[in-house]
Amino acid sequence: MCYTNDNDSLRIIIFPIMNNPLSRYETMLARLKARGGRLTSQRLALLQLLSVSQGHPNAAQLYDHLKKQFPTIALATVYKTLALLKEEGELFEIDLGSESHYDGNKPYPHPHLICRQCQKIMDGDEISRLDAVLEEIHERYDFQVLQSQLVFYGVCRECRQKS
Ligand SMILES: [Zn+2]
Ligand SMILES: [Zn+2]
Repeated sequence: MCYTNDNDSLRIIIFPIMNNPLSRYETMLARLKARGGRLTSQRLALLQLLSVSQGHPNAAQLYDHLKKQFPTIALATVYKTLALLKEEGELFEIDLGSESHYDGNKPYPHPHLICRQCQKIMDGDEISRLDAVLEEIHERYDFQVLQSQLVFYGVCRECRQKS
């Protein structure tokens, strides 16, 4: 099921697939170009990191990673680029209250699983009955969901095996 709205960024589609990082990179690049954003090598490196979204990094983690390659990069550059991509619907923000993590590989709303012990953030987008939940919300409350922020906290398999 998918709810669509004129605004692409308000689209909820649950795709049980991993997007091709190369095509995600190209899409994000095209959006930045269209916005007239400056395409510095720092920005391009950031897009590359986001298109893979390994581990759903936050801004500080992205900054630390880029600093190794670009010692003069400003944290503001990271924040500005994140804000632009978010506005364009090319980045999903996992809002954890005190901080945000980002997924540029799957820019649409999808559930995440967060391990309380190792703080790992995993995609939970292959839950098969999520559509049914959205449908029930629609039927029971006559409410059309446009945006969701679903986070489940728990303990991952690796951490359970360690203890
Ligand atoms: Zn864990
Ligand atoms: Zn994700």
